[in-house]
Amino acid sequence: MEIKKFVVNMLQENTYVVYGEGYSCVVVDPGFLSDEEARIVLASLEGRKPEAVLLTHGHMDHVYGAARLQRNYGIPVYMSEEDVKTMDYYDRVAKFGIKVPDRNFTVTPILDGDTVSAAGISFKVITTPGHSPGSVCWYAPSEGIIFTGDTLFAGAIGRTDLIYGEYDDEIRSIMDKLMALDPATVIYPGHGGTSTLGVEGATNPFLEPFNEREEIPELNENV
Ligand SMILES: [Zn+2]
Repeated sequence: MEIKKFVVNMLQENTYVVYGEGYSCVVVDPGFLSDEEARIVLASLEGRKPEAVLLTHGHMDHVYGAARLQRNYGIPVYMSEEDVKTMDYYDRVAKFGIKVPDRNFTVTPILDGDTVSAAGISFKVITTPGHSPGSVCWYAPSEGIIFTGDTLFAGAIGRTDLIYGEYDDEIRSIMDKLMALDPATVIYPGHGGTSTLGVEGATNPFLEPFNEREEIPELNENV
């Protein structure tokens, strides 16, 4: 397996192409927007037909390229139905002149615990509401990787002040669900660099209030 990251659109979103065995691949959060970005990402496929598009959530910076991939390759686009309403919100921002994604694609809904097999890899759906109600993480335990979207970043967590964001849900999703996984799992977030669940659990400042601190031993003044 190999993973390539492409930083695209005005929000510097990470589009990932995962290359599996035998000339197969899958695309996670295709946010490519400009012709140049589309050209670079599609060229990276080197003639492969992606088997699916995996969306971590419905925010536009993660979705710009979804319609084009489905149109080109006739492949499923997997997303939680809980985020259809965040997509419905595109119309509200379009009037401010923001370029919104082409919504001419069909969403194949996914639920917590579902498994999608693509590029010879089993991706398990872990629902992680908070940043958006339909945010999910795509966990591939056989590869020791997880695509965390805008739920968990290296050194930060996703903002919850956008429409339908819920801070308490976000913390619960991270602490109860992600931190229960193998700490060696490498995270591939929707923005910024990679990390591991273990490192984030120990050092992410946004999670610190929710971690039990090791007790500091009392100083023994007689020693
Ligand atoms: Zn987002």
